[in-house]
Amino acid sequence: MAQGIPQDVMMNTTLIQELADVAKDEALLKGVLMRIQETPNSSELVSYAPFTLFPTPVPKAVFQQALAVQTHYNTLVDKISQDPDFLQEALASTIAVDDFTARLFRIHQQILKEGRSQSIVLGLNRSDYMLDQREDGSSSLKQIEINTFAASFGGLSSRMPDVHRHILRVANRLQDSQRIQDNNPAAGLARAIAKAWELYGSERAVVMFLVEESQRNIFDQRYIESELWKRNIPTVRKRFGNVCKTGTLDQDKRLFVDGQEIAVVYFRNGYMPQNYTSEQTWDARLLMERSLAVKCPDISTHLAGTKKVQQVLAKPGVLERFFPDQPEVVEQIRATFAGLYTLDMGPEGDQTVAMALAAPDRFVLKPQREGGGNNIYGSEICDVLQGVKESAERTAYILMDKIRPASGQNYLLRRDAPLKVTNCLSELGAFGAYVRRGEDMVMNECVGHLLRTKSSEHSDGGVAAGVAVLDDPLLV
Ligand code: ADP
Ligand code: MG
Repeated sequence: MAQGIPQDVMMNTTLIQELADVAKDEALLKGVLMRIQETPNSSELVSYAPFTLFPTPVPKAVFQQALAVQTHYNTLVDKISQDPDFLQEALASTIAVDDFTARLFRIHQQILKEGRSQSIVLGLNRSDYMLDQREDGSSSLKQIEINTFAASFGGLSSRMPDVHRHILRVANRLQDSQRIQDNNPAAGLARAIAKAWELYGSERAVVMFLVEESQRNIFDQRYIESELWKRNIPTVRKRFGNVCKTGTLDQDKRLFVDGQEIAVVYFRNGYMPQNYTSEQTWDARLLMERSLAVKCPDISTHLAGTKKVQQVLAKPGVLERFFPDQPEVVEQIRATFAGLYTLDMGPEGDQTVAMALAAPDRFVLKPQREGGGNNIYGSEICDVLQGVKESAERTAYILMDKIRPASGQNYLLRRDAPLKVTNCLSELGAFGAYVRRGEDMVMNECVGHLLRTKSSEHSDGGVAAGVAVLDDPLLV
């Protein structure tokens, strides 16, 4: 992305140090907070969540494109989740070799067999993009992935615009400060949860945040909880362990945990194999899926967010299956796809292997994992593919074109890290929220955005992984 801050400011170390001090205080004042690594389960000592000193220039047109396509992505995810034949076919090769996806798929099949007990669907997702740099200097919006499970930073990103506006004012860049958009995903996500809670229709029932063991990023979730409490909607935070110990279904399949009826389960944990520490944890997931509670996401929406599904969607004709009479929607979604390639057994997969081995730097190799740090880049792609290319093991992965955004300079403010000018890449996310009851889509919105920025030395990893930091787009 283009350079925003003039070079004389960027290199004025005294000024930068002053601005960084102001910025950190402002982040603390505005509530851009994170618990510290040493005490992830206590709020006695907290710090600011890592963020950029300056906002990053983003072309207005691509920013608006990302927001505009989001409701279509919501619809797409929802339609996929309701299409068992598609999911079965898309994931067949993957579940033969990937135990985690296979396990999720078995839950999905069991729910289909028993029949879904709840017709209310709540989807909160985030579609992530990078701006691929074209040769003529323009950039095009390319999707990295869509997160249908525990998409985070809707809370903290709601507090970022004030912080960056303040920094720019102090830096005497008043006009720039006015080019930072308002952003409040927390309110929109909460609005969707509230809608699902209302439709569930019991005053006594609560919204359960199913949270991680280590809760460093608790404030991100607290913003959503606060929004719900403002509407007099009670929320509780529970771990898998609580559900294992006390979770039950009554004869109407109403879910109770620690004696309370649960209207909505909002999963912020459960997307990684290591989140399932025992058979009981898997039983707890199944119990919640079988229940009358509204699940965010339900198991089929979870599967709709896999990287294998993303790759299958990019095949010719597949989007048309979901939007048969809306070529303009197909076009709008497809315009955001990067090249995605199958590694299924057969000539097409063989061709993908050959292509990747010949030019590994052009691609990213992705297993079916979430949470950062799992993707494979560069020469390591060759190492991995050489090992699996003759066997079905290769179908656990997909191959994707590497997106090449322009870099820009910034300062990444992170607790205990030295202040130094850093070459950075950014990733733009759009938050989607929808609620459906039966055939009736009662809410379908784009509720905000997220900009994350990281040093260009890192190929992978998000904010929680300690690589990326929170940012704001400066529309240009
Ligand atoms: P995860 O589910 O672990 O978040 P992602 O697909 O989002 O997996 O990839 C993690 C990170 O790797 C992204 O945030 C991005 O920085 C980088 N990345 C992923 N895919 C690409 C790609 N096609 N081109 C360039 N960078 C990528
Ligand atoms: Mg990601």
